[in-house]
Amino acid sequence: PAISRTYNRVLLKLSGEVFGGGSIGLDPDVVKGIAAQMAQANRAGVQIAVVIGGGNFFRGAELQQRGMDRVRADYMGMLGIVMNCLALQDFLEKEGIETRVQTAITMGQVAESYIPRRAIRHMEKGRLVIFGAGMGMPFFSTDTVAVQRALESRCDAVLIAKNGVEGVMTADPKKDPSATLIDEVTYQEAMERELRVIDQTAFALGAENKLPMVVFGMEGEGNITRALQGERIGTLVVP
Ligand code: UDP
Repeated sequence: PAISRTYNRVLLKLSGEVFGGGSIGLDPDVVKGIAAQMAQANRAGVQIAVVIGGGNFFRGAELQQRGMDRVRADYMGMLGIVMNCLALQDFLEKEGIETRVQTAITMGQVAESYIPRRAIRHMEKGRLVIFGAGMGMPFFSTDTVAVQRALESRCDAVLIAKNGVEGVMTADPKKDPSATLIDEVTYQEAMERELRVIDQTAFALGAENKLPMVVFGMEGEGNITRALQGERIGTLVVP
């Protein structure tokens, strides 16, 4: 049963891979669809912040394997993220949603700088805030950024949108076809059972600060809207 627990404010993490629609670069149709779903939840009154990844452009670790300096490659990764942010902002504004992009690397012509208290003000006024350029620091993942931003901007939960899975599974469905979706799990239990939820740094930060986390599959019809509005889909990870 889809029990709704209405959020006041939530942070949504979208992987960059999704924005690429399966290849490198941006698929505007995909971004448009995601924006439409987010707009619906925003109109319903949910305060929304977003963190996007950049895997559709560059991943620092991958470029490193191909001979690049990790730090420089990570900065390239963060710059890629900003392009995703601008695309999402564009389609959100076409939906009539007021949006602000705040980047962790200053680029005044393109976006506001990351100013946490101002981000909260934007959301209180109904504006949707997109946090870009990751943490602004090499060696971090956007999952970790999502948890950090959710905590700093006082979100009720962090919602991790995944593609290809419905949430946290009992095993890797690619290796074990009998794997099933876990409805609810505590951080402690997830750790003991060695479940793959999100990367370790992000997981530890969420656990230590008791942040409710929802891991859900974004492919289902309207799933992003449903997750943003607090419908119980995917897996709920509780403190
Ligand atoms: N990145 C970084 N610091 C951050 C966030 C991201 O250095 O705080 C870089 C890193 O190189 C990463 C890339 O940006 O590989 C894209 O982010 P990520 O791989 O997390 O994107 P996703 O897999 O979610 O699309």
